[in-house]
Amino acid sequence: MYLKSIEVQGFKSFANKIVFEFNNGITGIVGPNGSGKSNVADAVRWVLGEQSAKQLRGTKMEDIIFAGTQMRKPVGFAYVAITLDNSDHALPVDYDEVVVARRVFRSGESEYMINGNTCRLKDVSELFYDTGIGKEGYSIIGQGQIDKILSGKPEERRELFDEAAGIVKFKRRKAAAVKKLENERANLVRVNDILSELE
Ligand code: ATP
Repeated sequence: MYLKSIEVQGFKSFANKIVFEFNNGITGIVGPNGSGKSNVADAVRWVLGEQSAKQLRGTKMEDIIFAGTQMRKPVGFAYVAITLDNSDHALPVDYDEVVVARRVFRSGESEYMINGNTCRLKDVSELFYDTGIGKEGYSIIGQGQIDKILSGKPEERRELFDEAAGIVKFKRRKAAAVKKLENERANLVRVNDILSELE
């Protein structure tokens, strides 16, 4: 699996629709300070479901929508789509190519899409479990993040290893199953109470 392209429109400094095409191998993005290099990584983080404006170097989510310049008016929505080559089926779907997209309007209305179908954030997160690609994955290492990882709590560091070892989805499923079991236990207690009242 590899990242084939990123399409951005109305996202941060990218007012117009722009498509970055990548090939297999290493691609470097170079440019003067403030020209928007980090905004490209922010776009990937955002489309993968980042909910924190701070992580995207803003103060509120609206800050990711192109705010206008002296030459251009602000735009009404931000859109990002990433296309991944999935011919090795590293992502657990039948498609050889997977397009994940996210759009948000100034009104706050937003949507996620996987291969053109509207979906939930949960679907996007689950698609990338254990691939290292999700918004909490290690495929995007931001400035200062290495320091944060090294000085973080052991449990936080452990999460990175869990992701690399491919056990996150099992841990999530276990947590969901344990929760369900607890609910069922509580239901059983209630049923027994009712039964003893009837006896
Ligand atoms: P450096 O090399 O200094 O790290 P960079 O190339 O990574 O810089 P970015 O931090 O990606 O640059 O981009 C910063 C630019 O993005 C600034 O010029 C800022 O004005 C612009 N920008 C950020 N958010 C918006 C927005 N919502 N609307 C318009 N422009 C924005």
